[in-house]
Amino acid sequence: MEQKSLACPVCQSNKAEIAGEDVKLSGQFQDKEFLTTPLTVLRCTRCGYYMFFDKLAQFTTKEESDES
Ligand SMILES: [Zn+2]
Repeated sequence: MEQKSLACPVCQSNKAEIAGEDVKLSGQFQDKEFLTTPLTVLRCTRCGYYMFFDKLAQFTTKEESDES
């Protein structure tokens, strides 16, 4: 199993929240429509950048900062 340390490619923040699971993206490329495999979508909590990962990636997203 592969564990990745998450780092936003934009701001290098390592904090992200799950924006969606089992998300399939549809699109078009050169007159062909395609549908991706289910993806996990993470959103950087600092800059809002969206990151897409397939099911093979594993994350440690247990830490939640409670700022209440
Ligand atoms: Zn970011």
